[in-house]
Amino acid sequence: MAELSDNLQALRGIGARRAQSLRKLGLVTVRDLLTWFPRRYEDRRTLKAIADVSDGESVCIRAYLEAPPVVTHIRDGLDVIKLNALDDSGVLNVTFFNQLWLRNELRPGAAYIFYGKAARNLFGCSMSNPVTERADRQEATGCILPMYPSSAGVSQWILRRCIRDALKAYADAIPETLPEELRTARRLCDIKSAYENIHFPKDDDALQAARRRLAFEELFLLAIGLQGFRKRRETNPAAAFADADMSPFYDALPFSLTDAQRRCIAEAFADMRSGVPMNRLCQGDVGSGKTMVAAACVYNCVRNGRQATLMAPTELLARQHYEGLSRLLSPLGIRVALLTGSVSAKSKREIRRQIASRELDFLIGTHALISDGVEFADLALVVTDEQHRFGVAQRAALTAKGRQPHTLVMSATPIPRTLALSVYGDLDVSFLDELPPGRRKIKTYAVSGDYRPRLYGFLEKQMSEGRQIYIVCPMVTEGESVADDRKAVTEYAQELGRVFPRRRVLSVHGRMKPKDKETVMSAFAAGDGDILISTTVIEVGIDVPNASVMVIENAERFGLSQLHQLRGRVGRGKFQSYCVLISDNRSEETRQRLRVMVTTSDGFRVAEEDLHIRGPGDFFGERQHGLPPLKVANLCADGELLREAQAAAKELQTADPNLTRHPVIARRAEELLAQSETA
Ligand code: ADP
Ligand code: MG
Repeated sequence: MAELSDNLQALRGIGARRAQSLRKLGLVTVRDLLTWFPRRYEDRRTLKAIADVSDGESVCIRAYLEAPPVVTHIRDGLDVIKLNALDDSGVLNVTFFNQLWLRNELRPGAAYIFYGKAARNLFGCSMSNPVTERADRQEATGCILPMYPSSAGVSQWILRRCIRDALKAYADAIPETLPEELRTARRLCDIKSAYENIHFPKDDDALQAARRRLAFEELFLLAIGLQGFRKRRETNPAAAFADADMSPFYDALPFSLTDAQRRCIAEAFADMRSGVPMNRLCQGDVGSGKTMVAAACVYNCVRNGRQATLMAPTELLARQHYEGLSRLLSPLGIRVALLTGSVSAKSKREIRRQIASRELDFLIGTHALISDGVEFADLALVVTDEQHRFGVAQRAALTAKGRQPHTLVMSATPIPRTLALSVYGDLDVSFLDELPPGRRKIKTYAVSGDYRPRLYGFLEKQMSEGRQIYIVCPMVTEGESVADDRKAVTEYAQELGRVFPRRRVLSVHGRMKPKDKETVMSAFAAGDGDILISTTVIEVGIDVPNASVMVIENAERFGLSQLHQLRGRVGRGKFQSYCVLISDNRSEETRQRLRVMVTTSDGFRVAEEDLHIRGPGDFFGERQHGLPPLKVANLCADGELLREAQAAAKELQTADPNLTRHPVIARRAEELLAQSETA
């Protein structure tokens, strides 16, 4: 029986060598290949008579070769084939550069299809290097041609061939996920025709139908999966907390809370009072003070006699939370501990014992909290920080350590309001849309490389006042090797060593072990370094109040939201802070984007602008949301379809609450969400 999980070598025409090169694209099974969807399409359907073709038009022409082509060797590395092709209306002059192998394919008297961009001038109609096929063996012309994501070593031609063969052999093995009633009700085509037409569209309508069906399916499975999480949460009652007397907590704070913080805390407390598990996302710009919202919830939980935990994506962040929160909460009688990968085995054992015997109230840590066999005596509140770094499934794993604990997720990913509500289907959202008072606006400048000498003068001045500096160079991009990453950072560090001989320059790069990175970052956070050079590995959320300047090299290579996150690393203390964006790229787009950064400091506005300039694909392309990667659907552009999918998911849930009659859907939804681990 043919199964989609079959290895690619089961396909005719794929031997060990080809399988090897396909593996480089991550394609191992027939399913991988069939779900390798085109990135775009080229419309090669328009067939015109030569006389009707206009200048600059991309078009197919069907014409005969009258005489053999003329081959000229111009010089080494430049061979030219010229020919005249005729149809009833005129002559097409075709030139091929360096395609000598075509010589034997082109026979006088035979008909060919030429596809390309035509030029028309006084001398007639011409094409250079058109796609050329015998008219009786048309494959890449006369159709809407899929263009696949690929890399060197696997040509479009090979991908098309392999996918075509796979479709032929396996079309009937593709299981239909969506029940027929649902497809009829939502006007969705069947799975087989969806796969056929997403790859080799019969026409525009068929392509649209295929895309719609596959996108719907993804969004539907996502909705089903998230619904499952919500349901599991809501069917069992959670601890209904009595609101604790918060005055000792508020009195211990060195500042008064902002209105936004108070509102978020009130919303969270209402959830925790309700008897249904809280599942709240607290979304606030960098520096808006999300930690205090968490701290208030933790205080409330512990005063209700229960345990709480907080999970951060990195060791450093976990440690920072531990330092800040134990300073605040320990004097209030709350017993706090830290559990990360680098805690010694002995201490871990001791912490595990204490958490199991209720000698600890609040455990802060990294994903070690999930993996290290921690058993809570009575976990009732789970807080995760910077949630886009955790997958939905990871959050669920931590939640499973308690009996229906309340959960609070803190995120600085500035997803626009309208979108957040639909994306985080299983979460209630609180917006922390106000910064604590007295924050000075970070002064942002966009400059070119010539500015560097003056910049160095400025940096020296800041450092002589005792401030610290971040410098970020972009991570290596495609085509550059990871070694270049280290080289770029190392060379930069050396240059700065020469410019600032008396300053301590630290560096981190993508090649370093996480542990070594942490060591350097912690040293910088502790003040043992004046300049920290890094690729984008600067941790989101790291708090060094003494750092006052963020310099970003090749700023055009970063997304706006990323720039905003990086900028948020400074301006966290009482000092006026600065962000300097360096770019020698003079394109209009770059200028426009950097201008947004210079004029706006509001993360939500930056996000909207980002969306506006780059389009939703890129925005979510960075996978900042902790959701599984979607292959076809686009969470921004497919808003209408998302609502339909959510409605359909709800209907199915009402009709078949435990999905007992829809095991395939249940399994596929689970598989999809299992891919959401991003950390
Ligand atoms: P983020 O939302 O980025 O996680 P933090 O919780 O780290 O922000 O808070 C950033 C800084 O602001 C911290 O140093 C914190 O002590 C401080 N802070 C938080 N709330 C207030 C407030 N209401 N007034 C003044 N400072 C505050
Ligand atoms: Mg934070």
